[in-house]
Amino acid sequence: MEPLFLTPVFQERIWGGTALRDEFGYDIPNDKTGECWAISAHPNGMGYIKNGPFKGKSLKELWDHNRELFGNAEGKQFPLLTKILDANADLSVQVHPDDAYANLNENGELGKTECWYIIDAKEGAELIFGHNAKTASDVRKMLEEGQWEAFLRRIKVKKGDFFFVPSGTVHALCEGTLILETQQSSDTTYRLYDYDRVDDAGNPRELHLEKSIDVIHAPHSNAGVKPSAKEIPGGVVTTYVASEFFSVYKYDIDGVAAFSQDQPFLLMSVLSGTGKINEVAIQKGDHFILPAGFGDYTLTGKLELMVSHI
Ligand code: ZN
Repeated sequence: MEPLFLTPVFQERIWGGTALRDEFGYDIPNDKTGECWAISAHPNGMGYIKNGPFKGKSLKELWDHNRELFGNAEGKQFPLLTKILDANADLSVQVHPDDAYANLNENGELGKTECWYIIDAKEGAELIFGHNAKTASDVRKMLEEGQWEAFLRRIKVKKGDFFFVPSGTVHALCEGTLILETQQSSDTTYRLYDYDRVDDAGNPRELHLEKSIDVIHAPHSNAGVKPSAKEIPGGVVTTYVASEFFSVYKYDIDGVAAFSQDQPFLLMSVLSGTGKINEVAIQKGDHFILPAGFGDYTLTGKLELMVSHI
């Protein structure tokens, strides 16, 4: 059985840059490339299999017709989406709905709980993460009055930090951060503040204040994650989060490390280095899925991989 390698899909964003080319060597379409949808079965950026008997098939086709590859996991949509984001400018401040709200208000979309591994951050880089309103009515008041400085919480970030961002959390990536995002497969974002920016024609971007007020959790109550690292022969496995939507790990391999694929399926992204999975060469920027029944395998080389499963 072979890993299923995926073609990445690139998305132009007004806040994007060139880090996906400069850092990862991807052939990006332009100098405002904000997102690499690395493992995706979402219609807004579909991934295709690059190798083996399923070459040329979309991930959605496999989910729909070869569910055995995914351990017969349930669900209408492939549940996860892995992205790399290059925030070359501040993103608008946003919030995502949960499954129930999205299903009702966004045509059956999934909600969006996400998490971020900071691949790189420039000196002094920040994120917006959470808010200072104590109640839902405070949220409404502060948003309607535009009390942004008082409302938003800013935190400093550095390479290697990790954030779990449940639906209902106010958040924004800020300038100078490069992150790997693992999220539910959803493209629903409610924008609550865009720093009063306007486009070249002088128009502001659309805001979604009422939906934001509907879904923002108050008070903000996210204690953050406590990563736990475990040494194994040939490497270190760091567990960041185990949530109802996904679990996320980092494998730091130096030598030969043995694993067993005992999940319905496993998503892997190579953040740095070169090496092999069994006898198959892998390198920085590769993204692949280990299907159900992949069994025992080895990772060899000097590699840093982000790994996730449902
Ligand atoms: Zn988000």
